[in-house]
Amino acid sequence: MIDTRPAAAGVPIAEVETPALVLDMPAFTRNLERMQAELTGSGVALRAHGKAHKCPEIARRQVALGAVGVCCQKVSEAEIFVDAGIESVAVTNEVVAAAKLARLAALARRAEIMVLCDDAAVVPLLGEAARCAGIALKVLVEIEVGGNRCGIAPGEEAARLARLVDRENGLHFAGLQAYCGPAQHKPNYSDRRDTTMHVAEAVKSTLSALRGAGLAREFVTGGGTGTFAFERDSGVFSEVQAGSYAFLDMDYAGILGEDGAPVRTFEHSLFLLSTVISRPTKNRAVLDAGHKAHSMDSGLAGLAAPLGGRVTRQSDEHMVVELDDAAPGLEIGNHVRLIPGHVDPTINLHDWIVCVRDDAVEDVWPIAARGPGL
Ligand SMILES: *Cc1c(COP(=O)(O)O)cnc(C)c1O
Repeated sequence: MIDTRPAAAGVPIAEVETPALVLDMPAFTRNLERMQAELTGSGVALRAHGKAHKCPEIARRQVALGAVGVCCQKVSEAEIFVDAGIESVAVTNEVVAAAKLARLAALARRAEIMVLCDDAAVVPLLGEAARCAGIALKVLVEIEVGGNRCGIAPGEEAARLARLVDRENGLHFAGLQAYCGPAQHKPNYSDRRDTTMHVAEAVKSTLSALRGAGLAREFVTGGGTGTFAFERDSGVFSEVQAGSYAFLDMDYAGILGEDGAPVRTFEHSLFLLSTVISRPTKNRAVLDAGHKAHSMDSGLAGLAAPLGGRVTRQSDEHMVVELDDAAPGLEIGNHVRLIPGHVDPTINLHDWIVCVRDDAVEDVWPIAARGPGL
């Protein structure tokens, strides 16, 4: 088998083959510690979102620091995290195919597993899978809180679905999922706060409808890197599901704090290392990392150091940097560190995370759960 690792442990960073994801270990460790410190003692737990990293080594570190477990979006990710020894995994997504539900129910024999439901039609399918596996499957009812993605209407409708789940043999109605994706990256502090307050109101009305239906289930999970402090302080959330905080990206670099200045709680720790492969004109440098190494669904990559230019476009295998004038760090053969536009889909394009410290490779971790996710 060909060794696809971009580097071996112990070599200098200069020898890393590109394009490769490099993780600045001190910055990464500070991010993990800071998020845990934000939550420890608050009564709200961290359930780190594994879709950001898809990497068992990182999940284990998050749990070692105090996370109650991880989230993921796909059954295949849940299998990899459980295999890696993570004892509590929430699939924060709807799963409806019988074969996938059978795999999920099998996992529930080895770890605490939760899955979402937003439709009465799926309840018997979940029940069937649980009964076949001989386990009680924990089901969270997902409510729609402004994401306009999945989720049943909060309040009475959600309570009716919860009651169906509760009555289904093999299922355990475990609580509510309330995640508002669009709130995460709103640059303005008060926009993020106000949106999350609306989410909390929807949760409260649903909890009261649940009590009315005789289902006093107070477990609520949701939130992300942009809003976790609001969920934490809302008084209704049991957990937050932040993921990107471990790495940060250009998307999150733009969010502002209460004082109007960029939030600096977390630092960029994950970089796309690339190489200058062409300097066809005085004002253009071309890097070896395009769509196949970097996802620009949320925008272009940023240069990690001010090199006298900016990324202006990318194609399949190229990234173009337009230069102001002399740019000494952008000669042919130079390594260039980029801040990914959006870490989650960028991680998914790579097999390995190259961990670096003091200009040397410390370790190389497999992104074991990468791929489309069965
Ligand atoms: C992506 C996601 C998160 C985490 O969001 P970050 O912005 O990466 O912190 C949490 N919950 C759900 C359901 C998600 O899809």
